[in-house]
Amino acid sequence: LAKDMGKNNYQFFTESLNERVIRKGQLENALRRAIDQQEFTLHYQPKIDLDLNRVVGIEALLRWNPIFGSVSPAEFIPITEETGLIVDIGEWVLREACTKNKYWYDLGLLEAPIAVNVSARQFMDPHFIRIVQTVLSETKLPSHLLEIEITERVMINVNEASDIINQLREMGIQITIDDFGIGYSSLSMINSIDIDNLKIDQSFLHDVMKNKKSSGLLGAIIQMGREIEANVVIEGIETEEQASFLAAKGLIGQGYHFSYPLPEEKFEKYLAKQEA
Ligand code: C2E
Ligand code: MG
Ligand code: MG
Ligand code: MG
Repeated sequence: LAKDMGKNNYQFFTESLNERVIRKGQLENALRRAIDQQEFTLHYQPKIDLDLNRVVGIEALLRWNPIFGSVSPAEFIPITEETGLIVDIGEWVLREACTKNKYWYDLGLLEAPIAVNVSARQFMDPHFIRIVQTVLSETKLPSHLLEIEITERVMINVNEASDIINQLREMGIQITIDDFGIGYSSLSMINSIDIDNLKIDQSFLHDVMKNKKSSGLLGAIIQMGREIEANVVIEGIETEEQASFLAAKGLIGQGYHFSYPLPEEKFEKYLAKQEA
Protein backbone atom coordinates (compact mmCIF):
# COMPACT_ATOMS: atom_id res chain seq x y z
CA LEU A 1 0.00 0.00 0.00
CA ALA A 2 2.76 2.38 0.96
CA LYS A 3 4.47 1.53 -2.29
CA ASP A 4 1.29 2.29 -4.26
CA MET A 5 0.84 5.56 -2.47
CA GLY A 6 4.41 6.47 -3.17
CA LYS A 7 3.90 5.67 -6.79
CA ASN A 8 0.73 7.72 -6.94
CA ASN A 9 2.43 10.63 -5.29
CA TYR A 10 5.28 10.34 -7.72
CA GLN A 11 2.88 10.30 -10.68
CA PHE A 12 0.94 13.22 -9.24
CA PHE A 13 4.14 15.17 -8.90
CA THR A 14 5.40 14.44 -12.41
CA GLU A 15 1.98 15.18 -13.85
CA SER A 16 1.72 18.59 -12.28
CA LEU A 17 5.30 19.32 -13.19
CA ASN A 18 4.47 18.32 -16.76
CA GLU A 19 1.45 20.53 -16.77
CA ARG A 20 3.55 23.42 -15.61
CA VAL A 21 6.13 22.82 -18.32
CA ILE A 22 3.40 22.59 -20.95
CA ARG A 23 1.70 25.77 -19.79
CA LYS A 24 5.00 27.60 -19.74
CA GLY A 25 5.70 26.48 -23.30
CA GLN A 26 2.26 27.61 -24.41
CA LEU A 27 2.66 30.98 -22.72
CA GLU A 28 6.09 31.39 -24.26
CA ASN A 29 4.71 30.75 -27.77
CA ALA A 30 1.82 33.11 -27.20
CA LEU A 31 4.17 35.78 -25.81
CA ARG A 32 6.27 35.64 -28.99
CA ARG A 33 3.24 36.83 -30.97
CA ALA A 34 1.71 39.07 -28.32
CA ILE A 35 3.11 42.41 -29.56
CA ASP A 36 1.98 41.76 -33.14
CA GLN A 37 -1.41 40.54 -31.93
CA GLN A 38 -1.76 43.74 -29.89
CA GLU A 39 -2.49 41.82 -26.72
CA PHE A 40 -0.60 44.13 -24.38
CA THR A 41 -1.97 47.19 -22.67
CA LEU A 42 -0.75 49.38 -19.84
CA HIS A 43 -2.56 50.21 -16.66
CA TYR A 44 -1.63 53.33 -14.71
CA GLN A 45 -1.43 53.88 -10.97
CA PRO A 46 -0.86 57.33 -9.42
CA LYS A 47 1.93 58.13 -6.98
CA ILE A 48 0.68 60.50 -4.29
CA ASP A 49 2.45 63.10 -2.17
CA LEU A 50 1.14 61.93 1.20
CA ASP A 51 1.39 65.38 2.81
CA LEU A 52 -0.20 67.43 0.02
CA ASN A 53 -2.48 64.67 -1.28
CA ARG A 54 -1.42 65.41 -4.86
CA VAL A 55 -0.49 63.22 -7.80
CA VAL A 56 3.27 63.49 -8.28
CA GLY A 57 3.86 60.56 -10.59
CA ILE A 58 2.44 57.59 -12.44
CA GLU A 59 3.52 53.96 -12.64
CA ALA A 60 2.84 52.06 -15.86
CA LEU A 61 2.03 48.39 -15.29
CA LEU A 62 1.92 45.87 -18.11
CA ARG A 63 -1.23 43.82 -18.75
CA TRP A 64 -1.49 40.85 -21.11
CA ASN A 65 -4.85 39.70 -22.43
CA PRO A 66 -4.36 36.80 -24.83
CA ILE A 67 -7.52 35.18 -26.26
CA PHE A 68 -7.33 32.35 -23.71
CA GLY A 69 -7.73 34.73 -20.76
CA SER A 70 -5.58 37.27 -18.97
CA VAL A 71 -2.32 36.21 -17.33
CA SER A 72 -0.78 38.05 -14.37
CA PRO A 73 2.59 39.81 -14.68
CA ALA A 74 3.86 37.64 -11.82
CA GLU A 75 3.49 34.66 -14.16
CA PHE A 76 4.42 36.03 -17.57
CA ILE A 77 7.17 38.57 -16.75
CA PRO A 78 9.59 35.84 -15.54
CA ILE A 79 9.03 33.92 -18.80
CA THR A 80 9.82 37.02 -20.85
CA GLU A 81 12.96 37.51 -18.78
CA GLU A 82 14.17 33.92 -19.23
CA THR A 83 13.57 33.96 -22.97
CA GLY A 84 14.89 37.45 -23.58
CA LEU A 85 11.48 38.52 -24.95
CA ILE A 86 11.48 41.21 -22.26
CA VAL A 87 13.86 43.31 -24.39
CA ASP A 88 11.31 43.84 -27.20
CA ILE A 89 8.31 43.87 -24.89
CA GLY A 90 10.06 46.36 -22.62
CA GLU A 91 10.69 48.62 -25.60
CA TRP A 92 6.98 48.45 -26.43
CA VAL A 93 6.15 49.39 -22.81
CA LEU A 94 8.58 52.30 -22.86
CA ARG A 95 7.21 53.70 -26.14
CA GLU A 96 3.59 53.31 -25.06
CA ALA A 97 4.20 54.90 -21.63
CA CYS A 98 6.12 57.85 -23.07
CA THR A 99 3.48 58.41 -25.77
CA LYS A 100 0.69 58.49 -23.19
CA ASN A 101 2.53 60.74 -20.77
CA LYS A 102 3.35 63.21 -23.56
CA TYR A 103 -0.32 63.23 -24.48
CA TRP A 104 -1.43 63.93 -20.88
CA TYR A 105 1.27 66.56 -20.53
CA ASP A 106 0.09 68.31 -23.73
CA LEU A 107 -3.50 68.20 -22.52
CA GLY A 108 -2.40 69.97 -19.34
CA LEU A 109 -3.70 67.07 -17.24
CA LEU A 110 -0.41 66.35 -15.51
CA GLU A 111 3.25 67.27 -15.50
CA ALA A 112 4.82 64.38 -13.63
CA PRO A 113 7.11 61.50 -14.53
CA ILE A 114 5.77 58.19 -15.75
CA ALA A 115 7.60 55.27 -14.19
CA VAL A 116 8.39 52.23 -16.31
CA ASN A 117 9.54 48.97 -14.74
CA VAL A 118 12.69 47.68 -16.39
CA SER A 119 13.99 44.14 -15.81
CA ALA A 120 17.66 43.54 -15.11
CA ARG A 121 18.09 41.82 -18.46
CA GLN A 122 16.59 44.77 -20.33
CA PHE A 123 18.53 47.31 -18.28
CA MET A 124 21.86 45.59 -18.96
CA ASP A 125 21.12 45.12 -22.67
CA PRO A 126 23.84 46.92 -24.68
CA HIS A 127 21.22 48.81 -26.69
CA PHE A 128 19.14 49.98 -23.74
CA ILE A 129 20.42 53.57 -23.54
CA ARG A 130 20.10 54.03 -27.29
CA ILE A 131 16.52 52.69 -27.20
CA VAL A 132 15.60 55.12 -24.42
CA GLN A 133 17.08 58.00 -26.41
CA THR A 134 15.21 56.96 -29.54
CA VAL A 135 11.89 56.59 -27.73
CA LEU A 136 12.26 59.98 -26.04
CA SER A 137 13.05 61.73 -29.31
CA GLU A 138 10.27 59.93 -31.21
CA THR A 139 7.62 60.62 -28.60
CA LYS A 140 9.00 64.10 -27.77
CA LEU A 141 8.49 63.44 -24.06
CA PRO A 142 10.78 65.73 -22.00
CA SER A 143 13.26 63.43 -20.25
CA HIS A 144 12.37 64.69 -16.76
CA LEU A 145 8.93 63.16 -17.33
CA LEU A 146 10.37 59.65 -17.55
CA GLU A 147 11.32 57.52 -14.56
CA ILE A 148 12.84 54.08 -14.63
CA GLU A 149 12.17 51.54 -11.88
CA ILE A 150 14.77 48.84 -11.39
CA THR A 151 15.07 46.32 -8.59
CA GLU A 152 18.07 45.50 -6.45
CA ARG A 153 18.68 42.53 -8.76
CA VAL A 154 20.28 44.96 -11.21
CA MET A 155 22.98 45.64 -8.59
CA ILE A 156 24.48 42.18 -9.02
CA ASN A 157 26.71 43.89 -11.59
CA VAL A 158 27.13 47.03 -9.55
CA ASN A 159 29.78 48.72 -11.70
CA GLU A 160 27.96 48.29 -15.01
CA ALA A 161 24.65 49.12 -13.40
CA SER A 162 25.85 52.36 -11.84
CA ASP A 163 27.35 53.30 -15.19
CA ILE A 164 23.96 52.95 -16.88
CA ILE A 165 22.22 54.69 -13.97
CA ASN A 166 24.58 57.65 -14.27
CA GLN A 167 24.08 57.93 -18.03
CA LEU A 168 20.30 57.91 -17.64
CA ARG A 169 20.42 60.47 -14.84
CA GLU A 170 22.64 62.72 -16.96
CA MET A 171 19.90 62.55 -19.61
CA GLY A 172 17.51 63.88 -16.95
CA ILE A 173 15.67 60.62 -16.33
CA GLN A 174 14.71 59.68 -12.77
CA ILE A 175 15.89 56.40 -11.30
CA THR A 176 13.96 54.46 -8.71
CA ILE A 177 14.95 51.36 -6.79
CA ASP A 178 11.78 49.26 -6.57
CA ASP A 179 10.88 46.60 -3.98
CA PHE A 180 13.70 47.84 -1.77
CA GLY A 181 14.59 45.81 1.30
CA ILE A 182 13.88 42.28 0.11
CA GLY A 183 16.58 41.93 -2.49
CA TYR A 184 20.23 41.73 -3.07
CA SER A 185 21.85 45.09 -2.47
CA SER A 186 23.70 46.02 0.67
CA LEU A 187 23.44 49.37 2.39
CA SER A 188 26.91 50.38 1.28
CA MET A 189 26.03 49.59 -2.32
CA ILE A 190 22.96 51.81 -2.17
CA ASN A 191 25.12 54.50 -0.66
CA SER A 192 27.58 54.28 -3.56
CA ILE A 193 25.06 55.01 -6.32
CA ASP A 194 22.97 58.09 -6.99
CA ILE A 195 19.26 57.43 -7.29
CA ASP A 196 16.21 59.67 -7.14
CA ASN A 197 13.63 57.49 -5.43
CA LEU A 198 13.70 54.56 -3.06
CA LYS A 199 10.51 52.51 -3.18
CA ILE A 200 10.14 50.34 -0.13
CA ASP A 201 8.72 46.89 -0.70
CA GLN A 202 5.09 46.59 0.34
CA SER A 203 5.79 43.74 2.75
CA PHE A 204 7.28 46.23 5.25
CA LEU A 205 4.09 48.28 5.37
CA HIS A 206 1.85 45.23 5.48
CA ASP A 207 3.68 43.99 8.57
CA VAL A 208 3.77 47.37 10.24
CA MET A 209 0.27 47.48 11.69
CA LYS A 210 0.84 44.03 13.18
CA ASN A 211 3.85 44.57 15.41
CA LYS A 212 6.07 47.30 16.78
CA LYS A 213 9.29 45.66 15.69
CA SER A 214 8.51 46.00 11.99
CA SER A 215 7.34 49.57 12.53
CA GLY A 216 10.85 50.34 13.76
CA LEU A 217 12.24 48.57 10.73
CA LEU A 218 10.11 50.62 8.34
CA GLY A 219 11.23 53.78 10.13
CA ALA A 220 14.86 52.78 9.76
CA ILE A 221 14.51 52.15 6.04
CA ILE A 222 12.75 55.49 5.57
CA GLN A 223 15.61 57.14 7.46
CA MET A 224 18.08 55.42 5.19
CA GLY A 225 16.32 56.83 2.13
CA ARG A 226 16.70 60.29 3.62
CA GLU A 227 20.41 59.71 4.25
CA ILE A 228 21.02 59.03 0.57
CA GLU A 229 18.82 62.03 -0.34
CA ALA A 230 16.24 59.99 -2.22
CA ASN A 231 12.49 60.49 -2.18
CA VAL A 232 11.00 57.66 -0.19
CA VAL A 233 8.03 55.92 -1.77
CA ILE A 234 5.81 53.50 0.12
CA GLU A 235 3.89 51.04 -2.03
CA GLY A 236 0.89 48.91 -1.16
CA ILE A 237 -1.11 51.45 0.87
CA GLU A 238 -4.50 49.77 1.11
CA THR A 239 -6.29 51.36 4.07
CA GLU A 240 -7.10 54.74 5.56
CA GLU A 241 -5.32 53.60 8.72
CA GLN A 242 -2.09 53.02 6.80
CA ALA A 243 -2.45 56.31 4.91
CA SER A 244 -2.84 58.37 8.08
CA PHE A 245 -0.02 56.47 9.81
CA LEU A 246 2.25 57.53 6.94
CA ALA A 247 1.00 61.12 6.56
CA ALA A 248 3.08 64.19 7.45
CA LYS A 249 6.37 62.31 7.11
CA GLY A 250 7.45 63.70 3.75
CA LEU A 251 6.65 60.48 1.92
CA ILE A 252 5.24 59.50 -1.43
CA GLY A 253 2.68 56.70 -1.49
CA GLN A 254 1.02 54.33 -3.86
CA GLY A 255 -1.71 51.77 -3.39
CA TYR A 256 -5.29 50.61 -3.77
CA HIS A 257 -6.37 53.11 -1.07
CA PHE A 258 -5.72 55.93 -3.54
CA SER A 259 -6.36 54.13 -6.81
CA TYR A 260 -6.08 50.71 -8.40
CA PRO A 261 -3.94 50.59 -11.52
CA LEU A 262 -6.43 51.82 -14.15
CA PRO A 263 -6.82 51.42 -17.90
CA GLU A 264 -6.08 54.51 -19.94
CA GLU A 265 -9.54 56.11 -20.19
CA LYS A 266 -10.31 55.56 -16.52
CA PHE A 267 -6.95 56.96 -15.50
CA GLU A 268 -7.57 60.03 -17.64
CA LYS A 269 -10.88 60.59 -15.83
CA TYR A 270 -9.10 60.11 -12.51
CA LEU A 271 -6.56 62.80 -13.47
CA ALA A 272 -9.26 65.19 -14.63
CA LYS A 273 -11.08 64.74 -11.32
CA GLN A 274 -7.88 65.46 -9.33
CA GLU A 275 -7.37 68.57 -11.43
CA ALA A 276 -10.84 69.90 -10.56
P1 C2E B 1 5.96 46.36 -8.95
O1 C2E B 1 6.68 47.18 -9.95
O2 C2E B 1 6.49 46.34 -7.58
O3 C2E B 1 4.46 46.90 -9.00
C1 C2E B 1 3.61 46.95 -7.90
C2 C2E B 1 2.60 45.84 -7.93
O4 C2E B 1 1.74 45.96 -6.78
C3 C2E B 1 1.66 45.85 -9.13
O5 C2E B 1 1.32 44.50 -9.43
C4 C2E B 1 0.46 46.60 -8.60
O6 C2E B 1 -0.72 46.32 -9.31
C5 C2E B 1 0.40 46.09 -7.19
N1 C2E B 1 -0.24 47.02 -6.26
C6 C2E B 1 -0.46 48.34 -6.37
N2 C2E B 1 -1.06 48.84 -5.27
C7 C2E B 1 -1.24 47.80 -4.43
C8 C2E B 1 -1.81 47.67 -3.10
O7 C2E B 1 -2.28 48.61 -2.49
N3 C2E B 1 -1.79 46.42 -2.57
C9 C2E B 1 -1.27 45.34 -3.21
N4 C2E B 1 -1.30 44.15 -2.62
N5 C2E B 1 -0.73 45.43 -4.45
C10 C2E B 1 -0.69 46.64 -5.05
P2 C2E B 1 1.29 43.96 -10.94
O8 C2E B 1 0.71 45.01 -11.83
O9 C2E B 1 0.66 42.62 -10.90
O10 C2E B 1 2.82 43.81 -11.29
C11 C2E B 1 3.64 42.91 -10.60
C12 C2E B 1 5.09 43.11 -10.96
O11 C2E B 1 5.31 42.80 -12.33
C13 C2E B 1 5.57 44.55 -10.81
O12 C2E B 1 5.85 44.82 -9.44
C14 C2E B 1 6.80 44.53 -11.69
O13 C2E B 1 7.89 43.97 -11.00
C15 C2E B 1 6.37 43.59 -12.79
N6 C2E B 1 5.95 44.38 -13.96
C16 C2E B 1 4.75 44.95 -14.23
N7 C2E B 1 4.78 45.63 -15.40
C17 C2E B 1 6.05 45.48 -15.88
C18 C2E B 1 6.72 45.93 -17.08
O14 C2E B 1 6.18 46.67 -17.92
N8 C2E B 1 8.03 45.54 -17.23
C19 C2E B 1 8.66 44.77 -16.30
N9 C2E B 1 9.93 44.42 -16.55
N10 C2E B 1 8.07 44.34 -15.19
C20 C2E B 1 6.78 44.68 -14.97
MG1 MG C 1 7.40 49.07 -9.92
MG1 MG D 1 7.36 47.35 -6.21
MG1 MG E 1 6.85 44.03 -6.56
